[in-house]
Amino acid sequence: MIGNKTIYLDNNATTRCAPEVVDAMLPFFDADYGNAASPHLLGRRAAKAVARARGQIAESIACDASEVIFTGGATEANNIVLLGAARHAGARRKLVTSAIEHKSVLEPLSLLEQQGFVVVHLPVSSEGVVDLEAAENAIDDDTFLVSVQGANNEVGALQPIPELARLAHEHGVALHCDAAQLLGKIPLSVSELGADFLSFSSHKAYGPKGVGFLAARGPLAARALVPIFLGGGQEGGLRPGTLNVPGIVGTGVACVLCRDLIKGEDARVAALRNDLEKRIRERLPFVVFACSSGPRLPGTTSMLVPGVPADLLVSRAPEVCMSVGSACSSGAFAPSHVLLALGYSRDDARTAVRLSVGRYNTAEEIADAATVIADAVNAIREESVQSVRLCDGADRRERPHELV
Ligand code: PMP
Repeated sequence: MIGNKTIYLDNNATTRCAPEVVDAMLPFFDADYGNAASPHLLGRRAAKAVARARGQIAESIACDASEVIFTGGATEANNIVLLGAARHAGARRKLVTSAIEHKSVLEPLSLLEQQGFVVVHLPVSSEGVVDLEAAENAIDDDTFLVSVQGANNEVGALQPIPELARLAHEHGVALHCDAAQLLGKIPLSVSELGADFLSFSSHKAYGPKGVGFLAARGPLAARALVPIFLGGGQEGGLRPGTLNVPGIVGTGVACVLCRDLIKGEDARVAALRNDLEKRIRERLPFVVFACSSGPRLPGTTSMLVPGVPADLLVSRAPEVCMSVGSACSSGAFAPSHVLLALGYSRDDARTAVRLSVGRYNTAEEIADAATVIADAVNAIREESVQSVRLCDGADRRERPHELV
């Protein structure tokens, strides 16, 4: 804590709900609590609010209101598309994706592989960009879907979605884009991206958690899916279930705010991220910022600190909320599949920390965070040197974190 303040640099994990969003949602927990499917007055008021939010979202991201399907977030939207497209695949057996997708894409795809589908994971460059030549070679008449994320959550790398859409469409194949990290972070026009399906989570864009939407656009999307959930038929039968009216209202307002603020906010956030990298580099010239020479999200940086495991750094700098760039599952600190696909070694990948700047960060916070992080890294490295000295002549396997 700086004073008693925490510096939040984890805006790719989630964002603070904008105060305007909270204000818009509150009446729908209280006075306007109707079910949007009910025919009575309260139900009609809820349905009207949902229709208004659908329109706000469509206008904000340049699609038609009829193309917006509300979901519980991007994970759900990804599953609806990937598993639903496989159910509709007919004789086609192949799905093309990238090596650095989010788990909410990779996990349904490994299920499809177990069911006999062929999943091709396209390689990426050292800057995290999908190899378009490999994509062109992989997409063929046996392919039923191409699924590539818009931006990577760990390193921020941006993908050439319009080019991938063109390659997919040449074979009459729909393109799905997991766009969870695009909304609220860069100016967004889904019609310019050219994807047929796009998945979004509101909480990544200063909206509420547990709600999001799928944009399903154009003739390919209209006939590419079989529903994976069954129930009351809401959202065109693709996502049945009672609509989350407060969440949907909040999503509408969050999207409008993002559209209104993004031009200007993106440059401000990029300047803060660049300042953070500059300040850290000044104190720690040995750190590596992954994907910093390629196209990437304005606020994201992934920092590899030689000899300093990411979980140790995160625990030694509790004033700064940041993420380890690796999945920590079942107590094992596994190196991130994203960093491995970028060509980093397992040891280097274990040192990756993700810092993501957002709307509510200030220049003062960035300066303080750089100081806290640099101090923590230097303290860890100093302790490491001392323990190496202590270990000299003794069992050298005892060294906790060897410097490289
Ligand atoms: N895709 C990407 C790229 C993400 O970053 C995330 C969230 N980390 C998701 C999908 C899943 O979003 P949610 O947890 O809101 O469903």
